[in-house]
Amino acid sequence: MGSQEVSESQDAWGVPDTEASWKGLRVTVAGLGVSGVSAARALAGLGAVVTVVDGGSGPALEARAAELAEAGVAVRLGDAETLPEGTGLVVTSPGWKPDSPLFAAAAAAGVDVIGDVEVAWRLRGPGAAPWLAVTGTNGKTTTTRMLASILSAAGLRTAAVGNIGTPIVDVILEDRAARAARASEGTGGQPAGEPYDVLAVELSSYQLHWAPSLRAHSAAVLNLAPDHLDWHGSMEAYAADKGRIYEGNQVACVYNVADARTEDLVREADVEEGCRAIGFTLGTPAPSQLGVVEGILVDRAFVPDRQKQAQELAEVSDVQPPAPHNIANALAAAALARAFGVAPAAVRDGLRAFRPDAHRIEHVADVAGVAYVDDSKATNTHAAEASLAAYESIVWIAGGLAKGATFDELVAASAKRLRGAVLIGADRALIREALARHAPEVPVVDLDRTDTGAMAEAVRQAARLATPGDTVLMAPACASMDMFTNYNQRGDAFAEAVRELGASA
Ligand code: ADP
Repeated sequence: MGSQEVSESQDAWGVPDTEASWKGLRVTVAGLGVSGVSAARALAGLGAVVTVVDGGSGPALEARAAELAEAGVAVRLGDAETLPEGTGLVVTSPGWKPDSPLFAAAAAAGVDVIGDVEVAWRLRGPGAAPWLAVTGTNGKTTTTRMLASILSAAGLRTAAVGNIGTPIVDVILEDRAARAARASEGTGGQPAGEPYDVLAVELSSYQLHWAPSLRAHSAAVLNLAPDHLDWHGSMEAYAADKGRIYEGNQVACVYNVADARTEDLVREADVEEGCRAIGFTLGTPAPSQLGVVEGILVDRAFVPDRQKQAQELAEVSDVQPPAPHNIANALAAAALARAFGVAPAAVRDGLRAFRPDAHRIEHVADVAGVAYVDDSKATNTHAAEASLAAYESIVWIAGGLAKGATFDELVAASAKRLRGAVLIGADRALIREALARHAPEVPVVDLDRTDTGAMAEAVRQAARLATPGDTVLMAPACASMDMFTNYNQRGDAFAEAVRELGASA
């Protein structure tokens, strides 16, 4: 993506970026989900004439539509395809594919399509908090939350936003209100919350696709493995969308030394003069990199003399859990914080204060000398491979919906660590076949049941295969929706089964 292309399209974009220019604009919001509702409310609040369209119907959506009607937003259910008359701008939700008929209709009518992140970016207003942005196939949420923890430890007012928690448009509007109130203080204005100093922003490839004018202070791409290819159409298109995060960076483009594709994206990006490429590595860092030396996280990038100096940041044991991929996440977070000028001690304090979210390599319990670990969030093979690399001797619980993935690479890389495997879910045969090819000596239990008791059975079978010192790791490498509502429910079922096992031990 070249600079000219970006700035030309920006000029051509008739997208308003001041509050006044939204007034009277006819905006069609695609999707009545969390981000769609938030964008619709925000834009209606700024005086836009908003219609939300959604292909679905039924009582839940109708109730949501009724609530929005009170905020002056029209909702059209049961038709996701035709563009409402007079639409001047389409704001899409992340789930909508780029080839959706609504967007084809918008293109035919010469109407721009943007996402919620682009709306938020354009609503920031002058003097707003800079963004430190994070993307990647895996580790986004963890790294973004680590970063927010480090920034807070440095005494900065910040929040982890984006593809995480509160919709980003809401956070930006709240921040605008806080800055406006501060500006009018002393002239009788209302006291309000403090404005943010900096935001830690998690961005999905979908959000990046629809955010053409976003320009972060600094950004990181953690890793790139095939995922969501049905949405993007190809690996190249997926990588290109991820790479947009580096466009226009001011201070640092942070990449993964172990994943050359992330460095390629930095090379292809058009950045501000003086912006630096900063690598992170689990090995000894070269100049302009952060890395690990004898159990210490060190910075050889943001030091006065990077040829001769290295700055100690934290110990590996300050990172929870200290699995290799998670140390990489910590280094990426540290690099972004250091690019923003955060002191080394705050990096250490922020990492120490950080607690991982549930179902991400969560240690549930020890039963009979065996550790039980819930990594239900490992919903693709890349995540599961990282997770399996963190333990020496594993009974692996895997399976579910494969989403078109193949398992040969994962099984071949992990075979020597496997004490056994218990397979569950719709696509378990794919994993069984990969095990037969690359780890024929590993005992496999193939569970042919998908009822609510299946996870308890899987845990009992895993316990039977494990010996003291082993880890039973539920890192399914698959989505959960064949047996569970989502990965949270799958993780909860695992934890419940482990508790039952403990009670009967
Ligand atoms: P995301 O927000 O990108 O989905 P999370 O931080 O929620 O990522 O982690 C999801 C899963 O991905 C984790 O449970 C773990 O299995 C795996 N994971 C986390 N960080 C990494 C990484 N740096 N490389 C590979 N896999 C990772």
